[in-house]
Amino acid sequence: MSVAGLCQVCEAAQASHGCSRCGNAVCDDHWNDAAGACATCVQGRQQ
Ligand SMILES: [Zn+2]
Ligand SMILES: [Zn+2]
Repeated sequence: MSVAGLCQVCEAAQASHGCSRCGNAVCDDHWNDAAGACATCVQGRQQ
């Protein structure tokens, strides 16, 4: 799956991941590879 545009969390960096939970496109800084979800979803699920 390809992702285009800016990270929807920081809106400053190029998005390179697509979250399958919320559908947001996020940059590396806001992607949690271990969880396979964006930082927003990870923070909402667990500390
Ligand atoms: Zn970001
Ligand atoms: Zn998400």
